[in-house]
Amino acid sequence: MRAKRSAPAPVITELPEIGVTVISRWLYNCYVIHDGGNGQPFVVDLGMPSQLPLVADVLSRRGSHLSELGAASELGAAVATHGHADHVGGLPPLRDQHGTAVHLPIAIAEMRAGTRALRPPGIREVSQILPVMASQPRDLEASREIAGTATSIGWSGKGVRLPFEPDSWLSDGDHLPGLPDWQVLNTPGHSDDSTCLFHAPTRTLLSGDAVLSAHGRAWFNPEFVDPELSATSEARLRALDVEHLLPGHGLVVTGPRVMTEARAHTDQPSIGAKASALWQVLRNHAGRPET
Ligand SMILES: [Zn+2]
Repeated sequence: MRAKRSAPAPVITELPEIGVTVISRWLYNCYVIHDGGNGQPFVVDLGMPSQLPLVADVLSRRGSHLSELGAASELGAAVATHGHADHVGGLPPLRDQHGTAVHLPIAIAEMRAGTRALRPPGIREVSQILPVMASQPRDLEASREIAGTATSIGWSGKGVRLPFEPDSWLSDGDHLPGLPDWQVLNTPGHSDDSTCLFHAPTRTLLSGDAVLSAHGRAWFNPEFVDPELSATSEARLRALDVEHLLPGHGLVVTGPRVMTEARAHTDQPSIGAKASALWQVLRNHAGRPET
């Protein structure tokens, strides 16, 4: 008889020096920022509904709440760095149950209107990030949950699914509405809607999938749909003074040389490196077999 696997536990990491909590399901990161500049917390890349109670727990431990109308401690907003399903899947229940304001990159609106083409990554592009996937155990349940939400929200080659109208569309250079310390940077390449959020006072970059990390090193995403846009975005981000990189996938990277030591988007893994990473991804589960 095959051993049954127990459900992998989420990983909650506090980063008190920058006022951020990471709520990850291993490879999939969601971030709670405890003060967006006006005392209100906000959440970035709520990728799955099961992260919602975890966000509520993290907030309540700090005396904040998902919805408490008019209170400074109420969750101020939810922001997605782009519209891939693993970054937006938890937004519909957050919106339905708590009425939280949602802000999304404007390129998603253009895709929905048909004025911008839908350019999803192919298998070859996705295979470039196998080393990133192999750098942490695989949470199969999280992947299943994301696949389930993809039918209700997010964009793919088939279209744009958005079950509600966002409160605002984010453009390059904007500051997050009501969260004045955070600046929006348009950083396409991985996808046409890829967006970063930068907090100059603490030199913190929430990079979404524009920059990932593997084995303690930042990596300008080698999975991209547009090499020219990736090159432009990489040059722009390398010029930023970043000390804390909070990537969409992979562990947080901290230090004064985060950007200078980052791997380039053109640093593509060899076929051998991809094959050994695939082997590791398949055998390294976050859930441990029951004994
Ligand atoms: Zn993505």
